[in-house]
Amino acid sequence: MSTDLDLAVDLLRATPTHENRSDGQLRAWAAIALAYGDELAAGTDSAANEDVQVVEREGGIRRDEILVAEHHGDTVTVYTDSLTRLEKLAAENGFQVSREALRTAAIAHELAHRRLDVRELNRRLGHTALRLGPFRMRGHVAGAEEIAAHRFAHHRSGLGVSPLLLTAALAGGN
Ligand SMILES: [Zn+2]
Repeated sequence: MSTDLDLAVDLLRATPTHENRSDGQLRAWAAIALAYGDELAAGTDSAANEDVQVVEREGGIRRDEILVAEHHGDTVTVYTDSLTRLEKLAAENGFQVSREALRTAAIAHELAHRRLDVRELNRRLGHTALRLGPFRMRGHVAGAEEIAAHRFAHHRSGLGVSPLLLTAALAGGN
């Protein structure tokens, strides 16, 4: 079975702008993003979980896209139709995960996005996109935030399966 590191490398490789990067580079970035997710989840500011409002509504499924949750400011929206679809797909793929655990993971994923410090993550990734005289432009590593958010969600939700594995499997990847 693939490890989270393998899955995170796959996720980066499938992300536009990374097609021609070396495996070593992607592996290094994936490890940094996972570690950042671990660190965020281990943070002592868990009380911050409570400062968001969770609302539920339908309307997450559009053609071939399933949006399970999203956040705007202090509100996390969980799309119940997407959650139902996710629950069904997970069961069909042999994953024993409850709807409640999937819901918790989806909310935690959004909390991670809300909490993660993109500048700090970029600093750790150390990707220099451009150097202009003394100026060094810190590049954005597409996909790194997703990896950190998936990892954070795994820690915070108690989901029995890695969200990275679940995502890859449901996307038809594994
Ligand atoms: Zn995300």
